[in-house]
Amino acid sequence: MSRIHRLDSGPVEALAILCSDYRFRRAFMDHLGDKRVDLFVVPGGCQVLAGVPAHRFFFWLFLKIVGFGTAQLVDFLVKRHKPTAIIIFEHEDCGWRKWLGRDGKKIQMKDMIKVGKKFSSRYGVAVEMIYASLERGEIKFYRCSASADASFLSFSAFAKSLKFR
Ligand SMILES: [Zn+2]
Repeated sequence: MSRIHRLDSGPVEALAILCSDYRFRRAFMDHLGDKRVDLFVVPGGCQVLAGVPAHRFFFWLFLKIVGFGTAQLVDFLVKRHKPTAIIIFEHEDCGWRKWLGRDGKKIQMKDMIKVGKKFSSRYGVAVEMIYASLERGEIKFYRCSASADASFLSFSAFAKSLKFR
């Protein structure tokens, strides 16, 4: 028997950008709760929008092309639905980032901040940056923030941890 779903036509509250990794889906959705959120789901989350250093030419060129297309899609969603906030999720043990050699808390925080700054200046929206860490079989959320020039990065735990499956 199928359930009946009604169309939720209220205004969008936020756009969430997250990695496809199914292991973190429950935790990310739990954080979003009942908010009206557009989801933008791609391997690596915001990584394609952050790019890689130009000396890694193959990856740099690849991500320039993929990143351009991705930015156009994000732009479409923001202009069409006008969210007041963008939520960026990153997570530990990301397969896409390992493949690129761009994993690790500090690199991921820097990428989130780079992308978050672009969003806030381009769209004038609030940007929330969340890193999901794996600690003793549980997913723990940290809110990420930086000084104005991004020279100082910080993490702060803010939510109860969730069981990691
Ligand atoms: Zn991932």
